[in-house]
Amino acid sequence: MESPAIRGGFMVIEAGRILHVAAHLPERFCGMPKVRLSGGAILPGLINAHCHLELSDIDQPLPVPQSDNGTGSMVGWLDKLMARRRDLVDSKSHVERIKQDAIELGIRQAWESGTRFVVDNVTAPWSAQWCEQSARGLCKDPSSEAYRALVPEIPIHIQPCIELVDVNQKRCEQTWEFAKKLCEQQTTTDRVCRQPFGLAPHAPYTASKRMVQQAVRSQSASHGLLSMHLAESLEELEYVEKSKGPFKFWISPWVDNEHVSNIGKIDEYLRLLLEAHRSLIAHGNYLSDYQIDWIGEHRDKVAVVYCPRTHSHFRHKEHPARRLEGRGVSVFLGTDSKCSNPDLSLFEEWKTACRMFPDLGARYWMEQCTTSPAKFLEIDQWVGTIRQGSKSLLTWVPLGGQEIADEDQLWQAMLDSHQAMPLEVQVSLMEMTFR
Ligand SMILES: [Zn+2]
Repeated sequence: MESPAIRGGFMVIEAGRILHVAAHLPERFCGMPKVRLSGGAILPGLINAHCHLELSDIDQPLPVPQSDNGTGSMVGWLDKLMARRRDLVDSKSHVERIKQDAIELGIRQAWESGTRFVVDNVTAPWSAQWCEQSARGLCKDPSSEAYRALVPEIPIHIQPCIELVDVNQKRCEQTWEFAKKLCEQQTTTDRVCRQPFGLAPHAPYTASKRMVQQAVRSQSASHGLLSMHLAESLEELEYVEKSKGPFKFWISPWVDNEHVSNIGKIDEYLRLLLEAHRSLIAHGNYLSDYQIDWIGEHRDKVAVVYCPRTHSHFRHKEHPARRLEGRGVSVFLGTDSKCSNPDLSLFEEWKTACRMFPDLGARYWMEQCTTSPAKFLEIDQWVGTIRQGSKSLLTWVPLGGQEIADEDQLWQAMLDSHQAMPLEVQVSLMEMTFR
């Protein structure tokens, strides 16, 4: 996406960094050991802009009952999610162990399909150490010379966004205490979890205006990321705009009056998010035209994350991707959790987005899960790009020996491909020839 595709080119990698990428190999690199790769394409590492790794220990997405408005019911799905959580607590199992295992599963699944950076909502209990261990445990053969040259020490990075919920006073205190504790754990060394940690006020029905305002203020000071589910379902709109519908009934056992009086309308949350250093609107399925215009005026600081397969799972109305693109707003791609998605492959999200909005094009959608979020998140110097100086966090897409004459055919061959994987896995699979 930063140059035309290079056919049969050369990439020079040393100690996990790209030193050179072009059609030709300069003389000074000719003596280096070489690995020949054929029958596939190398892409930048994929960026998943919205995920809940801690929900990865589920075999199948939770079913979504039908709602009165013709789409799937978010409330019906949340009921099932809460029941799952309750069962976990009631089972007296070791919750921390279960969550750690789920995160490990999620990180592995993301990495196996070529994802190198995940924006992840985290809830208590959680530890950066869990991500650290999982990510560093991914390399199978770190002793091999090629592997060590090719792969940086850390093969996948996580941007934790601490989820904030304040449906009542007690919950409000707990949520800030948890956020404070995690933020204090941050250190300055190069780690799997990117710092500063982000904050994720959960959604308009669970996060008051006051709390979002506080989150915006604290993230503006630290230049941290803000991520919030917004305008996700028609039920959410009915609740926050008209104070009625199934959400009102669903949330009533938990909320106190103080919280209810502080629930804002979508416009009010949007105005707060537009003030942040960087904010991601998860889903934004039902943003109106004038709301999209507003976001367009702040497009360097606010982007929307479209989760194509989750969107289909909830049978939502068409996503406003075209209108957002028309206003110059980035529409990044995310998986959301395995509770609404069969797996965490961002490559599959890319293929689905291309199928849903073919007019925007395969190249556009690839930008939205590589270079575009990399620039927005200010990480393009090291991930999401193939350029000199970037880490070699790269993706391999097998193209099944198809004849490829031009770039259109290349995109088509990638759309026909059944998988994407980390480049190092392909290299390990191949018989390596060192010359
Ligand atoms: Zn989500």
